[in-house]
Amino acid sequence: MSNIVAIVGRPNVGKSTLFNRLSGTRKAIVNETAGVTRDRNYGKSEWNGIEFSIIDTGGYATNSDDIFEEEIRKQVMIAIEEADSILFVLDVQHGITDLDSAVAGILRRTKKKVYLVANKADNSDLIFAANEFYSIGLSGQVFPISSVNGSGTGDLLDAVVNDF
Ligand code: GDP
Ligand code: MG
Repeated sequence: MSNIVAIVGRPNVGKSTLFNRLSGTRKAIVNETAGVTRDRNYGKSEWNGIEFSIIDTGGYATNSDDIFEEEIRKQVMIAIEEADSILFVLDVQHGITDLDSAVAGILRRTKKKVYLVANKADNSDLIFAANEFYSIGLSGQVFPISSVNGSGTGDLLDAVVNDF
């Protein structure tokens, strides 16, 4: 199977929560503390009868911002190499941070398909606020989702599997 979807983004945006929702497992570790996911997690998912593999990234061992940026860069580079599609997860409740901009800068250079995922859009005000991410400098639609209540994930998956 060659459809591989990687989830990238700075710590605490909800990557592992999204991974767990999409893969239907609780394998990835979700924690209130930023940077707690220790290893890359691999799962399987299916949408509209189409199977794909999903990778949760994040294995950030320290809270130093400098290390974070270097670690994230490494994770994103690996994801770009390994995956066919990349879900770039942002946190609509926090807006755009310097780390988000750094990730966007790396993703801008790839030819792989990148989806802008505005996570934590738990209500209609937050769904509207997700429009902020159109200014991050990547082309394509912003998908407001809530990994906690599942809203918006259907539209996102429709787009992802349609592009395989
Ligand atoms: P990661 O570091 O990017 O893997 O983020 P996690 O998946 O560990 O989530 C970090 C925090 O954000 C946890 O407290 C999650 O419960 C919370 N979170 C994740 N998705 C959502 C969401 O859609 N809405 C809200 N309100 N919180 C979320
Ligand atoms: Mg995580």
